Amino acid sequence: MKNFLIKQYQKDIKKKISHNYLPYQFKNSSQIFKKIKLLIKNCDFTLGKEVITLENNFKKLTKTKYAFGVGSGTDAMFLSLRALDLKKGDEVITTSFTFYSTVGAIVTAGGTPVFIDIGNDLNINPDLIEKKITKKTKALLIVHWAGKVCDMEKILKISKKYKIPIIEDACHAIGASFKNKSAGSFGLSGCFSFHPLKNINVWGDGGVLCTNNKAFAKKIYLLRNHGLVSRNRCKIFGYNSRLDTIQAIVANYIFKNRLKIITKKRILNSNYLDEKLKNNKDISLPVRSDKNSKEVFHLYHIFCKKQKKLVAYLNKKGIDAKIHYPIPVHKQQAAKKYIKKGLNLVNTDRIVRKIISLPVHEYVKTKDLDFIIESINFFYKNENSIH
Ligand SMILES: *Cc1c(COP(=O)(O)O)cnc(C)c1O
Repeated sequence: MKNFLIKQYQKDIKKKISHNYLPYQFKNSSQIFKKIKLLIKNCDFTLGKEVITLENNFKKLTKTKYAFGVGSGTDAMFLSLRALDLKKGDEVITTSFTFYSTVGAIVTAGGTPVFIDIGNDLNINPDLIEKKITKKTKALLIVHWAGKVCDMEKILKISKKYKIPIIEDACHAIGASFKNKSAGSFGLSGCFSFHPLKNINVWGDGGVLCTNNKAFAKKIYLLRNHGLVSRNRCKIFGYNSRLDTIQAIVANYIFKNRLKIITKKRILNSNYLDEKLKNNKDISLPVRSDKNSKEVFHLYHIFCKKQKKLVAYLNKKGIDAKIHYPIPVHKQQAAKKYIKKGLNLVNTDRIVRKIISLPVHEYVKTKDLDFIIESINFFYKNENSIH
């Protein structure tokens, strides 16, 4: 039972063009430290003022009525599902092409995950949803993968027709939108993460949950903080999943000073790579957003031949190419008992064998992108002699 993360991050940070960039991001943190000192002085540790500021920031960003700072993106999904009071056997429709915690939240909240295949935009294929709806379907937990909003027109129609709420895993999608409507504001609940590798990144864990539904908001308010309505009144039994005030300080700093640059740079870098790679015959690109959507490229993906060999080659060149994720959730040991015979996620299985992600964050420069492109082109020209 070892902590495998320590070694992983040490290895990642050594790469010349790394996915991991927090040492640059927080090189000058004097503003943050000043606020932390003030917090100590004011004893504002638990659900302090900075948490309220963060919640207001997210209400503004997503144009939602209520926002709650919570322990993590996973907690935002877990609390959303808990608020739906799932009973044994209740089903939640989702995708297998996601981070494990999307499905983990369903299971730990007492639900049964039902997996649906993705399209070539890496999001849930909305045309496959209706077939999987049963009397037991209690929610659609959709993922705006890589920061691209799902096909919300189709999904909202289905949600209305069957009266099944939508929970949005918007952990990749801070600032993303469709027809000027923000990710995390379409469904009953929008769930965001501040994990150190997300577009707003704190010094540990954090998340926020947005909603427009007052009754639901009241439940989340209680579930997040032990069910307390006041110091001495406990209305329901709940959890301790409060956004840490220190993390809220960091999140607010990024929100105010960096988010616009972060988003803009990711989009520019991604467009640059798209343009330069589109004529490479060994590579294809996932379906990108049209002009109705703003895609924020939390991850930049390409589809490629010889996936593992290319990743190894790029890593050797100091480029932190990664596979997010080589084993989809439905093939994980944890998911075994939820997999029905005959489950066939053709596109998911196909895509995990050819997808890779390349760093496009705000510290990746044009010359780094050119180096990435050159290295990819060199690889395919010389792959027979590369070992
Ligand atoms: C990061 C991530 C999560 C989990 O967020 P945490 O804040 O780390 O709990 C959930 N879903 C997706 C798609 C993610 O990338």
